[in-house]
Amino acid sequence: MRLTNYFLPTLRDTPKEAQIVSHRYMLRAGMVQQASAGIYSWLPMGYRVLRKIEKIVREEQDAAGAQEVLMPTIQSADLWRESGRYDGYGKEMLRIQDRHDRDMLFGPTNEEQVTDIFRTHLKSYRALPLMLYHIQWKFRDEVRPRFGVMRGREFLMKDNYSFDLDHASAVKSYNKMFVAYLKTYARMGLKAIPMAADSGPIGGDMSHEFIILAETGESEVYYHKDWLDVDVLSQDIDIDGDLQPIVDSFLSRYAATDEKHDPSTCPVPEADLITTRGIEVGHIFYFGTKYSEAMGARVTGPDGKESPVHMGSYGVGVSRLVGGIIEASHDDRGIIWPESVAPFHIGLVNVKIDDATCTDVCEDLYRKLNGAGVETLYDDRNERTGSKLADMDLIGLPWQVVVGPRSVKNGVVEVKNRRTGETEELTPEAVINRFVG
Ligand code: ATP
Ligand code: MG
Repeated sequence: MRLTNYFLPTLRDTPKEAQIVSHRYMLRAGMVQQASAGIYSWLPMGYRVLRKIEKIVREEQDAAGAQEVLMPTIQSADLWRESGRYDGYGKEMLRIQDRHDRDMLFGPTNEEQVTDIFRTHLKSYRALPLMLYHIQWKFRDEVRPRFGVMRGREFLMKDNYSFDLDHASAVKSYNKMFVAYLKTYARMGLKAIPMAADSGPIGGDMSHEFIILAETGESEVYYHKDWLDVDVLSQDIDIDGDLQPIVDSFLSRYAATDEKHDPSTCPVPEADLITTRGIEVGHIFYFGTKYSEAMGARVTGPDGKESPVHMGSYGVGVSRLVGGIIEASHDDRGIIWPESVAPFHIGLVNVKIDDATCTDVCEDLYRKLNGAGVETLYDDRNERTGSKLADMDLIGLPWQVVVGPRSVKNGVVEVKNRRTGETEELTPEAVINRFVG
């Protein structure tokens, strides 16, 4: 992509309404535009990142055996009356009436809708276990939408729902999602720590929030310092094998939000306990037969007996993650994208566009890199070098290739790693060899 053609409305000044760094940088880097309170348009740069996050989430859901569907944003109130949640949900739910005065709603979540799909088609244990997920916009009329996409009213969520014959089988589905979540966040360069959460009416310990660490987070969290050493991606985990020992080994390290943390019973010595703040980027939850009982989603077991299906739900805050990743990865000059979610891999800067050699070298690099599938954003604008480099640092692509008249005369260009700030001089051929293949 050439910057002269690209819609990237960057801002020099910090927008006043933005209180936290991710919101400031997302506005300044031209990623989103507020449409109304807590509702955003995603501009090209922001949307690229959103799609990369979605892709990682999708790949890990698929790898865990979940099947992707797409349920509507607008749901019928009658389904929610069946589950008993229509009146209870309160003002967070956006209620709508159609032209026939039928009550509808913009879904804040999809338990009812997915239970309706299940009960319409499935009646036997032979269809189980089953996991259905979608990645779809939600609406919750939050009392205080704030921090940009972190607490929006309209936001993108991946929500998965598991169906099992009994509790023992539901535990297996839960464990699959537990491991899939650790992998999902790790692939985005994040350390997300599962922390026990309220498990609702059925009790038990099958409810975890996945929390990433950031000073600006909304919850106070406590964890054993060993959590920082956990590296799930280096472990060879068979997602279809027995995951209980693996889950137990992760949960043997202490981690809790302030709602659950009690200093008088905390098993971790003070010297090993880290206190900081965190952002909830996911929540997994086993709720048993709550909806299947209310809505009549029943299956026949191998013994011929009918019983309500056991369910769990598993959410990832896809749009919140865009802000969350920035909170976890930035410096005072801008965003530092982890490679896996970066909107482009390389920012190619032509320092002097009216210098024929600079432009020839840039055009050639641009063609070869893009041709080989290395996503490259080419700054071919006629702008001051200082502001071009500042923009590159702000938008935070992992690599910068800077082509200036002096170095190009010596046959080299400058390659900078955005995260470490390290630079080296390479010939254009060496740049191609470095990034292609
Ligand atoms: P919170 O406590 O932050 O309000 P929640 O408990 O309401 O979250 P869930 O219903 O479990 O959240 O939704 C699953 C995920 O969706 C959350 O872990 C979070 O990452 C994301 N999420 C929830 N509410 C919002 C919101 N208003 N804006 C952006 N993402 C959200
Ligand atoms: Mg909420």
